[in-house]
Amino acid sequence: MKRPNIFPVRLSFVLPLNAEKSVDRFVHAYIVVGEQIAIVDTGAAGYQQGLVDALAALGKSPADVAWIVNTHEHPDHIGGNGFFAERGQPRFTCHAAATRWIEDLGAQSRERPIYGFDKMAGKAIRVARQLQDGDEIDFGGVTLQVIYTPGHSPGSMSLYCPMDGALITADAIQPVGGLPLYADLQQSRASMRRLLSLRGVKTLYCAHSDQPFVGDEIPATIQAGLDYLDRVDAAVKDAVTHLPANAAQEEITRETLLRIGLTPPPVMPITIQSVMSHLRTG
Ligand SMILES: [Zn+2]
Repeated sequence: MKRPNIFPVRLSFVLPLNAEKSVDRFVHAYIVVGEQIAIVDTGAAGYQQGLVDALAALGKSPADVAWIVNTHEHPDHIGGNGFFAERGQPRFTCHAAATRWIEDLGAQSRERPIYGFDKMAGKAIRVARQLQDGDEIDFGGVTLQVIYTPGHSPGSMSLYCPMDGALITADAIQPVGGLPLYADLQQSRASMRRLLSLRGVKTLYCAHSDQPFVGDEIPATIQAGLDYLDRVDAAVKDAVTHLPANAAQEEITRETLLRIGLTPPPVMPITIQSVMSHLRTG
């Protein structure tokens, strides 16, 4: 059997929710092996050992990494950037719209506050190449094609490896039952519809899913994400009709999250943003 070019690496990390409480989470990074070695996403800061071990299994070390591709600007995907910058000379690349928040972590923290951001995001790096939809990144014999899939964040992109039929979507597909997490509902929907329309995908990699999806699971997973957004939409509309016209954003978010079964409702800036994006028109 042909050797794959993409190796998923599961990185477990502890996500602090507040001063008292934290939860165990995981995110996937990917090692891409061409003539050059690339890494797609680097996990939360302090949790890079899994990547080091996976590189070692391929006979490589962090110093051998030529490229680091960030699927988007969130801290659990870029937190190891500084780790690799300190151990080699990787060139960093991301979608142009993600550049500012990846280079300026202070700006991201102010504009999208989450608890424990600084610790999770690690050290900032300089982006060497800004990508656009349709661009190809060539690692020597293996290429990744950029599919711009904004919505979850302004700079979210998916990456398609034609050689493996592998599609890395990171956080572009909303997980069913999870926190609604998107900066822009309409963009998120359009991006998922676009991913649904792609042909030739053999393996779908979502950053926070246990296993990659194959065969019929691929369209089913994307459609389920779209359906979940419809469910959230109905919940927002129902919450609004049952609340006074001057209800605060926190209250609308609380009532929405309760209606989709998230108890206790995790009302925080990132969920408020998602919920409120359902009430924007145009
Ligand atoms: Zn994200």
